[in-house]
Amino acid sequence: METLKNYIDGGWVSSKENNTATVVNPASQEVLGKVPYGTNTAADVATAVSVASKAFASWSQVPVMKRVQPLYKLKQLLEEHAEEIARTITMECGKTLAESRGELQRAIENVEVACGSPSLMQSEFSENIATGIDEFMIRQPLGVCACVAPFNFPGMIPFWFLPYAIACGNTFVLKPSEKVPLTMVKVFQLIEKLDLPQGVINLVHGGKETVDALLDHPEIKAISFVGSTQVARYVYARGTANGKRVQAQGGAKNPVVILPDADIEMSTQIVTDSVFGCAGQRCLAASNIITVGDNGRMKEALYEAAKARTTGYGLDEKVEMGPVITGESRSRVEHLIDKGVSEGARVLLDGRKAKIEGYEKGNFIKPTILEGLPLGGEIIRTEIFGPVMSLIELKTVDEALDFINSGNYGNMACLFTSSGANARKFRNQANAGNIGINIGVAAPMAQFPFSGWKESFFGDLHGQGRHAIEFFTQTKVVVERWPKEWSRKF
Ligand code: NAD
Repeated sequence: METLKNYIDGGWVSSKENNTATVVNPASQEVLGKVPYGTNTAADVATAVSVASKAFASWSQVPVMKRVQPLYKLKQLLEEHAEEIARTITMECGKTLAESRGELQRAIENVEVACGSPSLMQSEFSENIATGIDEFMIRQPLGVCACVAPFNFPGMIPFWFLPYAIACGNTFVLKPSEKVPLTMVKVFQLIEKLDLPQGVINLVHGGKETVDALLDHPEIKAISFVGSTQVARYVYARGTANGKRVQAQGGAKNPVVILPDADIEMSTQIVTDSVFGCAGQRCLAASNIITVGDNGRMKEALYEAAKARTTGYGLDEKVEMGPVITGESRSRVEHLIDKGVSEGARVLLDGRKAKIEGYEKGNFIKPTILEGLPLGGEIIRTEIFGPVMSLIELKTVDEALDFINSGNYGNMACLFTSSGANARKFRNQANAGNIGINIGVAAPMAQFPFSGWKESFFGDLHGQGRHAIEFFTQTKVVVERWPKEWSRKF
């Protein structure tokens, strides 16, 4: 099996690194590919940054109306190849085909929003700030920008950044997750068909060594990172210490509060989709499900819906939940469930040691529900990143808000209710950057920032929309005087 190539300077080139990591289908354990992995990937980064730096000189001078033209073509190509890319996502990442199609749709929407960069980059002008003097602000690109992506949305997350970065006049180096590099290889086979100058968009494979090389390279001006909090914090610290702009989106532990006046049927369906969709491997997956008041009927409905969910290989259209990414992840999730039990939780529904016919070696965990985790314990605050729901009973909305606001993460908080006043209070007081009211996955559309707070985000400007335009440009303010005595008489 050939090792995956990097895409540098408009062509596919072999890595300088001979060591590889394997890309494995998490359902079947079939080896899908080999990806360069080791210290010599730093040399690949050096080559990619050098060509991107050279390309920046001319690309930054291309008018923005012209810079977005390849994005229109990219949207069309992504749509034409959507099914093929979605199948690749499912094969390497494990999620269902419907989830992969949805993810790609979100990627395409980011391309569409970035096509509006000619308007989004427009700036401010003040005439006559003093007699005969005008002042205005312009936005200019930064230079070479890099993105480091996680495994759980291989088709979408690079698009929170890539289209905006290049539309703003920067050049770009992407490092996908070594666990799921095939999706971006497919996307870059489309990027290859665009009328883009060589070196504007580049792809380098690898793991930590590749990331460190990007963080330390003096020609890289900005880093966009998405992944676990531990690595996000590290990337933010090392990147900013090296004088770069960094936006680093991290992990989560998302609470959902269900009030007694919530619509039981609707809440059940939406909440179980949020907890178990993508096998719980979404940074916006609901995890702690907090019922306020008597939760008897709600608990029963959630239990029945979770139990009825079909787990299996995502390419099978009937399947509603796929495996987790690696055997190691499966062991980790099962260990966290065990730990929850040792802290005092009861297992209402046990998905450990799941076996799926035909995929006996797959990394499957079936839907699991824990009840009675102590509020002061560790598991109730730990990102499990697997299909595990923790049921929590509290007495009031204020108790729920206190619990939410005492947590380390702030990616998402949701409320289910039919009371406008409680909804209003919740959206005002919950300390999270993405709020859902009768919504289970409050994923911002491409025109809004993906607003994590607290340990779910390190930086100032988030991915997507106007935040991305601001992140990928630096402002220049011009104060200008043209004395009227200098005007020629015509
Ligand atoms: P991860 O942190 O393990 O890896 C992310 C990227 O960092 C990968 O490209 C990987 O190669 C690289 N990396 C890993 N360890 C590194 C190290 N020590 N030094 C430098 N680079 C390193 O994350 P993951 O497991 O791929 O993704 C899952 C995590 O991402 C979850 O915590 C999830 O909540 C989070 N996530 C957050 C968001 C968000 O918007 N906040 C979105 C998606 C995923």
